[in-house]
Amino acid sequence: MAWPERALNGARYMYRLASKVALITGGTSGIGEATARLFAAEGAAVVITGRRSPAGRAIVAELRESGADATFVRADHTRARDCERAVEFALARHGRIDILFNNAGVVTSGTAESVSEADWLRTLSLNVTAVWRMSRLVLPHMRAAGGGVIVNNASDWAVVGAPNALPYAASKGAVAQMTRSMALDHAHENIRVNAVCPGDTWVQRWGEEGYFPGSAPVSRAQAMRSARAQIPMRRFAEAEEIARAVLYLASADSSYVTGHLLLVDGGNTAR
Ligand code: NAD
Repeated sequence: MAWPERALNGARYMYRLASKVALITGGTSGIGEATARLFAAEGAAVVITGRRSPAGRAIVAELRESGADATFVRADHTRARDCERAVEFALARHGRIDILFNNAGVVTSGTAESVSEADWLRTLSLNVTAVWRMSRLVLPHMRAAGGGVIVNNASDWAVVGAPNALPYAASKGAVAQMTRSMALDHAHENIRVNAVCPGDTWVQRWGEEGYFPGSAPVSRAQAMRSARAQIPMRRFAEAEEIARAVLYLASADSSYVTGHLLLVDGGNTAR
């Protein structure tokens, strides 16, 4: 695919992901979608996955219109067979996968006592097991190609405790340790494994009814104001700000970085 040449202060712009193939899980909204858009703008061929076909198809149609090579494959990553199909699809189309962004995840609240068995298992199945499964499926192909990059979407709650979010915090702590351990296992194969750890990031689902509930006498608006006030930078992140960190980890800009947890949290964990 020919990309239009971009000029940068008179110099030729080098697309940071030119000729790379990126597989992005949960790319139909939020951070995954923002990353797919940024990767495509940086010259990558992107394959996005997710459960919502209409949203996935709409995003890839838009990306294609701007000249990108973008495809969507429907996958529920709690299912082993769907993980396999997503990887098979990307390999059949492109012959290789240079970048895997394990992004799909679910936020689940609850304490050790209040969380249900079903919620616990569902959270670990997507946030932990799918990350392992997707990595395991992609690793042999990266090795055969002489290297690759895996970026996991963890959370600032991977490194500090989280009140009333036990399954989520436990799952993201596991993602952090998978990141470090896989980095050690595969560094000698030129496969880098890192994680982005976003703080509170404004995504579409936050706008949905009941997602950010206030409870009387505290309104939803007050609950959000109070959440913002607790962040040192006094604002939520935009999904694009997280995508830029993912781009850094996925590109040659971070060629000597592996096993790293990159906190993008407005200073939340600095205290
Ligand atoms: P989001 O809900 O917009 O994105 C989640 C994506 O995962 C969606 O595309 C969704 O369809 C997909 N998904 C959910 N379950 C799936 C399944 N079973 N199979 C396949 N896809 C599935 O929210 P987001 O905030 O962009 O979340 C993306 C990642 O970022 C998650 O791993 C989340 O834990 C992490 N994160 C988000 C925040 C935040 O404040 N938004 C903070 C830290 C970490």
